[in-house]
Amino acid sequence: MAGALIRGGLAQLDAPAPEAGLTLADRDVADALPFGLLLFRTGSGGTPVCSEVNVTFTRWANRSAQSLTGVPIPEVPLLNECRILLRYIASCLAGGAVPTGELAWTVKPEDETTGRDRYFSAKLAVRSGYVLVSVRDRSSEIKAESHLRMTMLSDDLTGLPNRLQFSELVETALTEREDREVAVLLLNIDRFKRINDSLGHTVGDEFLIALARRLSSCIRGSDRLARLGGDEFAMLLTGLTDEMDTRDIIARVQRRLVDPFQLSGGEVHASATIGIATTISSTTKMEDLMRDAHFALTQARNAGASGVELYKAQDHSKARARFAMETDLRRALDAGELSLAFQPLVSLRDGMICGVEALSRWRCPKRGLVPPDEFIPIAEESGLIVPLGRWALQEACTQMAKIRGDLLEAQNIHLAVNVSGVQLLRDDIVEAVSTALATSGLPGTALKIELTESAIVGNPERARHVFARLKALGCMIAMDDFGTGYSSLSYLQTLPIDILKIDRSFVDGMLESADSQNIVRAILSLSRALNMTTVAEGIETEGQKQALALAGCEVGQGFLFARPLDADGLVARLREKKGR
Ligand code: C2E
Ligand code: MG
Ligand code: MG
Repeated sequence: MAGALIRGGLAQLDAPAPEAGLTLADRDVADALPFGLLLFRTGSGGTPVCSEVNVTFTRWANRSAQSLTGVPIPEVPLLNECRILLRYIASCLAGGAVPTGELAWTVKPEDETTGRDRYFSAKLAVRSGYVLVSVRDRSSEIKAESHLRMTMLSDDLTGLPNRLQFSELVETALTEREDREVAVLLLNIDRFKRINDSLGHTVGDEFLIALARRLSSCIRGSDRLARLGGDEFAMLLTGLTDEMDTRDIIARVQRRLVDPFQLSGGEVHASATIGIATTISSTTKMEDLMRDAHFALTQARNAGASGVELYKAQDHSKARARFAMETDLRRALDAGELSLAFQPLVSLRDGMICGVEALSRWRCPKRGLVPPDEFIPIAEESGLIVPLGRWALQEACTQMAKIRGDLLEAQNIHLAVNVSGVQLLRDDIVEAVSTALATSGLPGTALKIELTESAIVGNPERARHVFARLKALGCMIAMDDFGTGYSSLSYLQTLPIDILKIDRSFVDGMLESADSQNIVRAILSLSRALNMTTVAEGIETEGQKQALALAGCEVGQGFLFARPLDADGLVARLREKKGR
């Protein structure tokens, strides 16, 4: 069939030309084809002329077949918009090489305001002194492609560029920035979820559209606004000279958010948290600038609602350092780099050691000895405090049970172990304690669990429940660093707490500051009233010891008596019997 389409056979283009010349033989088939077909031969003046055309092409060109037949090529509509095509047809007719690929071109509408661009492509074939041009109208294909691209690059709801397009825009801005600065500003609506939850998603969408409109009015002509997803919007600010320029825009954004949004579900008040990274304080790579802006946004969010945070490289290096320490600590736990030190607690009445506090030590091969004040907060943040705390508990009980078993002088020595509030919330601390007691053989009555006030404040009900079960195991509960947290008398009164440990800061200032002295006295009388034992932490001088003993404090702990010791050091000290 295809062979019969052009007399002489399209499929046999190398065959000799028939006498009568080439024609579109089977008109019905040629006309039914979805592409335009045109035959060209060399005209009298040497210019190619159209010898035949199918109906499809006449329709596209809005011309009759007769009006196109015999017309020199520069007058054939649509084709004459593609100069290179005209040149190829002429050169092919003159025996030149046939282009292998398709030639593509755009035809502009006569009236640019109403018409649309049209897209065509053509392929040439040469046969017996004729050039057959097959033309494809690719307009709908290209429209679909660009629509797809638009959908891929823009946000459905607001029509703003989406994350993908925003990244492209930032990338371009960075390459074209020359000596000017570029900033990425990320904006999150505070408690947006509340709008969605209380007024419904339709009103939530309405809000986002209204917000997009307001934010658009805050930026300058050269800036771009995008919606990255949810309630996260981004601004690309270009041509900046210093960071003050971004401050102007932030101030404008905040001013524009003051007025409530009038939505169909009612009036909505909104505020935003903002994070910014600029090429001044961050980097000139798109991914890094975006990451740093996110980092600043998270910092701003952590600082509370409506915050604004400008990225500073040193903040990030701090976060990176914390992350590096977390990674090392994770490994340290498995590698056995942690050990325990034991600091004696001494009776202020007779100077005898009555207990010890187990304190974790981390000797890192890379970092050296890392103080607990540095690694415990990181362990708490990362959740590593759970395995760390369990290890400390188990190890302390095992070592203490052994010392008590080996040494007559250690028979009545109590062991205090620190338990973080994070662990109290996340872990089954009662199970951990009973396992440690059972496997070590240490009696529950020899164990004191030290917690800080913040551990209770976080969840007093849970604390009450856990304390009761720990008491059932025979353990005592000590309030560590007492006086520094959110002390509440009601907790002290209602929770089964046995010991108050006066924080080092009050002991430290006791002899110089009347305030510290008063606080120590108050804690002591409170403790007496509630039938608790008081331990003073951080006693470094004889004067502090005497003042505390005089005020009625029973137990002391501090460098005056002993620094934290390893197990051998503790055994040696216990053999001496006296704390000092
Ligand atoms: P803490 O429980 O209040 O422990 C007492 C801290 O005071 C210890 O610091 C101890 O070395 C220090 N100290 C004792 N006497 C003196 C003194 O006279 N002067 C001075 N300047 N300091 C004294 P360390 O060992 O650095 O521990 C710091 C904190 O880290 C502990 O405070 C505790 O909150 C936490 N920590 C230590 N080990 C663990 C653990 O295994 N688990 C948990 N959750 N926290 C731990
Ligand atoms: Mg402690
Ligand atoms: Mg303490």
